[in-house]
Amino acid sequence: MRLAHIDERLVIKGPEGYIDVAEASGGRFGPDPQTALADWEAFSSWTREYLASSRAAQAPVVAADAGAVWGPPVPRPAQIFAVGLNYRDHIAESNLEVPAEPAVFTKFRTSLTGHEAAVALPDGLVDWEAELVVVIGRDCHRATRETAWSYVAGLSVGQDLSERRLQLTGPAPQFSLGKSHPGFAPVGPELVSTDEFDDPDDLELGCRLEGGEVLQKSRTSAMVFDVPELVTRLSAVCPLLPGDLIFTGTPAGVGGTRTPPKFLAPGDVLVTWIEGVGTLRSPMTAS
Ligand code: ZN
Repeated sequence: MRLAHIDERLVIKGPEGYIDVAEASGGRFGPDPQTALADWEAFSSWTREYLASSRAAQAPVVAADAGAVWGPPVPRPAQIFAVGLNYRDHIAESNLEVPAEPAVFTKFRTSLTGHEAAVALPDGLVDWEAELVVVIGRDCHRATRETAWSYVAGLSVGQDLSERRLQLTGPAPQFSLGKSHPGFAPVGPELVSTDEFDDPDDLELGCRLEGGEVLQKSRTSAMVFDVPELVTRLSAVCPLLPGDLIFTGTPAGVGGTRTPPKFLAPGDVLVTWIEGVGTLRSPMTAS
C-alpha cells in the first residue's frame, strides 16, 4: 500500500490514481494522515479490502498535478530519531571511526516538510544527506532483531538536510539543532508499506541535483546498523510510538567532505530516490 498526504488529506494509491481515504472509508480514517498510523493494523486491513473491491476502480481520483501541495506522509510524529555515521563509506569520508553504538540525535518536528516543498536556505553551509526513513506502525518497547520489522508500518524517502557550521560548533556538536531549520526534514512523497518489498533491507538509494551530477548512490544493505538493529537498540531505551520516524543515516558523497567542499545554493533542486519507495523533489530558495 502506498499512502500520501495531498492538500491536507490522507490518500492511498488506487488503480487509477490517488483516492481520498475519508471519502472512501465513510469517515472511518482520514482526512488527517495520523488517523492511519493511530490504528495501522485496522487501516491496513481496510485498505487491502477496499483496494481489492470494485469500489476502488470507480472512486474519484485526487489531482496530484503541479498545483497539489504534498505534506509529509506522517505530519506530526511524536518522536523523530536520526542516526549519524551509519554507512562505512560515509564514516571514512568523515575521517571517523565506526561507532560501537548508533550515534543518535533528533530532528525537531518543525523541520518536517513534504515532496516539492521549497526549502529556504538559512545563512551557513547547507549540505544534503539522502536517507531511508522508517515509520513505526505500533507501540514498540524492547523489540528483538527477529520481531523488529513487525513494528514498522512502512518506508519513505527523506533528506537529513544539515547546516554544517552550527552542526559542528562547540565541544559537543549541535547535530539536532543544525539539522532542524524549517524544511530540513523533507519526507515523501509516499509512505510505502513493508509488504511491498521483496527485501526491505537491500534498496538502492541516492540523490542528485536536477539537471546535474549524481551526488550519492549506495544500497541500504551497506548500513552499519541495519533497520532491525536500529529498532532494537532505540526501543531498548525509548518506547517507540506509532508514527515515529527513524532517519537511518546517509552514505558517502555529502558536500562538506569534498575537496573543495560543495553546498546547496538557491535554485538547486535536490532529487532523492530510493528503489521501490519513491523520488522526493526538494527545490532550494533564498531565505
Ligand atoms: Zn543524516
